[in-house]
Amino acid sequence: MRAAVLTLVVSTSLAMTPFAADTDTIRGFTPESSKVERDWEAKFKAIPDPSRMRESMRRLSAHPHHVGSAYDKANAEWIRDQFRSYGWDANIENFDVLFPTPNERLVEMVSPTVFKADLNEKKIDVDPTSGQTDEQLPPYVAYSHDGDVTGPLVFVNYGIPADYEELERHGISVKGAIVIAKYGGSWRGIKPKVAAEHGAIGCLIYSDPGNDGYSVGSVFPKGPMRPSQGVQRGSVADMPTYPGDPMTPGVGATKDAKRLPLDQVPTITKIPTLPISYGNAQPLLAALNGPAVPSAWRGGLPITYRFGPGPARVHMKVKSNWNTRTLYDVIAKLPGTTEANEWVIRGNHHDAWVNGAEDPISGLVAELEEARALGQLVKQGWKPKRTIIYAAWDGEEPGLLGSTEWVETHADDLAQHAVAYVNSDTNGRGFLGIEGSHILEKFINGVEKDIQDPEANISVWKRAQARTLRSGTTEEKKEARERSDMRIDALGSGSDYSPFLQHLGIPSLNLGYGGEDPGGIYHSAYDDFYWYTHFSDTAFVYGRALSQTAGTAVMRLASADVIPFSFGNLAETAGTYVKQLQKLRDTRYDQITDTNKSIDDGVYAALSDPREPTVAPKRQNAPPKFDFTPLTTAVDSLTHAASRYDKALDAGTMGSGATAAMNNRAAAIRALNVRMLQAERAMTSNDGLKGRPWYRHMLYAPGFYTGYGVKTMPGVREAIEQGEWSDVDGEIARIAAAITREATLVSQLATDLGAQ
Ligand SMILES: [Zn+2]
Repeated sequence: MRAAVLTLVVSTSLAMTPFAADTDTIRGFTPESSKVERDWEAKFKAIPDPSRMRESMRRLSAHPHHVGSAYDKANAEWIRDQFRSYGWDANIENFDVLFPTPNERLVEMVSPTVFKADLNEKKIDVDPTSGQTDEQLPPYVAYSHDGDVTGPLVFVNYGIPADYEELERHGISVKGAIVIAKYGGSWRGIKPKVAAEHGAIGCLIYSDPGNDGYSVGSVFPKGPMRPSQGVQRGSVADMPTYPGDPMTPGVGATKDAKRLPLDQVPTITKIPTLPISYGNAQPLLAALNGPAVPSAWRGGLPITYRFGPGPARVHMKVKSNWNTRTLYDVIAKLPGTTEANEWVIRGNHHDAWVNGAEDPISGLVAELEEARALGQLVKQGWKPKRTIIYAAWDGEEPGLLGSTEWVETHADDLAQHAVAYVNSDTNGRGFLGIEGSHILEKFINGVEKDIQDPEANISVWKRAQARTLRSGTTEEKKEARERSDMRIDALGSGSDYSPFLQHLGIPSLNLGYGGEDPGGIYHSAYDDFYWYTHFSDTAFVYGRALSQTAGTAVMRLASADVIPFSFGNLAETAGTYVKQLQKLRDTRYDQITDTNKSIDDGVYAALSDPREPTVAPKRQNAPPKFDFTPLTTAVDSLTHAASRYDKALDAGTMGSGATAAMNNRAAAIRALNVRMLQAERAMTSNDGLKGRPWYRHMLYAPGFYTGYGVKTMPGVREAIEQGEWSDVDGEIARIAAAITREATLVSQLATDLGAQ
């Protein structure tokens, strides 16, 4: 009854007032509803409390809390109870997933000298949790193949495809060798994948001090950077194929789910892989001969970096316990009022590799303070239209397990009801970083302009703009001055938004502060309360800023009269992608024809130093001309539909074409929102990407050879990058079809709003 009365009141005001006609009006709200919204937001923003975040971090990071540990479960129960105490309906949802833990780990040099790597992170006296060795997972990478191998060592820089081209030029093969790669340049799981493709039999990954150790700053505990014994753990499962439980691709890992047998899991590495410290890597690298590496390959160790192979011969052994473990996802709900069937979802993971104060607790404590604040608003009479779901995911670190299994389990409901997903993960001092769906670009810019930077006392939007004006390219600077919205980056992978956006097509955002908090403790035993409270957001004021940012976004999404998507930003961004693809084709054409000419002209032969000979690259076929017209046409129709929609939204009155709607404005708005829920979904394809059908979004995917790094319009971009020319036309057609579906939907939305 109460809900019906509310609807009537709302419908009267909507009938007379436009949406977002001036700058004080929030997109998707009327001037009146904006005023109400801003009052509630002011109350909300005053609540998140840095001292509570500090105490929550102390509690949640007090012990190692990886998947399967006692403290992981204890944390989940504590988080659930916190949500309940804030007035939320909170429960734990369980899944059973494959999670290997180390049983045997060995790395030793057997010749020309003997050296055994200790493979351990020592306790640091001033840091009270660094010595909890009984509870820690020792340094390893999850989902490495078991193996016991011996071979000559080869240094492969970052171990990405371009590095192997450089090795080939020097006539160096990794066939039968163990490679050693630096962290960085790609997501770690790419390194063993590419090494195995080139015939390597084992893979070591180490953290070079040039990237996050003493070359950058003082090392822990004197400073924030990586000490010589610090090791980065992580997952090496082939996440660009699919994330989540490796045994249950595409379906939830519930008790009775059908599981792949272990020997048929495709995402486990093909070769044994281990991470090591730079303390352990130095003797191995110092024992390599062969030519000195190019300058871009050099790191910060006081040695001459050489390719090898050998004479260092390395013996490595990896054996895991291939156990099934239980995940504890905490799911908390605040029911909506008039639009309870529309869900706004917010999440951050709670599991860590070790104590994980920065990753993920710094983001989680901000989320908890948002939840407490929203609970207080409800007690004061705040009534969000839509249902709000807050999640604390388990199993993010091994491969987005908790979020992926939850999304796969509830896929049908989510496809029907989800409005958007707002993610955070680690948080620190500095600038607001935003990545996400471009239909949310204008919306999140609006939020960003209303949040104050806690140290600089200007809006976080102004601060982000200032950074681009200082360090952007000429083009970026020009845009930062002239474009009304700051661009947001597209989402690749690396946190829990992937299943929402790339599997189901739910508009997603990833938010976090950083950039003024250098560190070298990522995924090590030193990412803990001591480190965070000495070197990162020590006053937790950027934690409060994250609460305010994400919470304001959630409140607006939950209460907007019209769901605040913007299709003009999407169309314009899609247009830039098409231009990039055309340029990519032309650049590839120029590079390949130039290389082929140089081969024919004997340039490589002439340049080869007889004392350190190099080999000419192989001839490649240059790309033919591709017809990009289907894409430009589709983008044009989306641009047109988007401007019709924006005009109708600004006018805020139903046109004569919508007489029936005029009779019941509230019902018309409701129908508009229901259609709007499909706006990101329209850009997915049930067939998914070539060779990786789990990824269904036609605009955004993690790169098959970059991992976390995004590939936009991936079907076409990766076909061009990988020289698969015959795939390009078909992929152009598939993406064009997705954008055309979007244009059709937006055009219908405009008509719903009464556009002529
Ligand atoms: Zn994380």
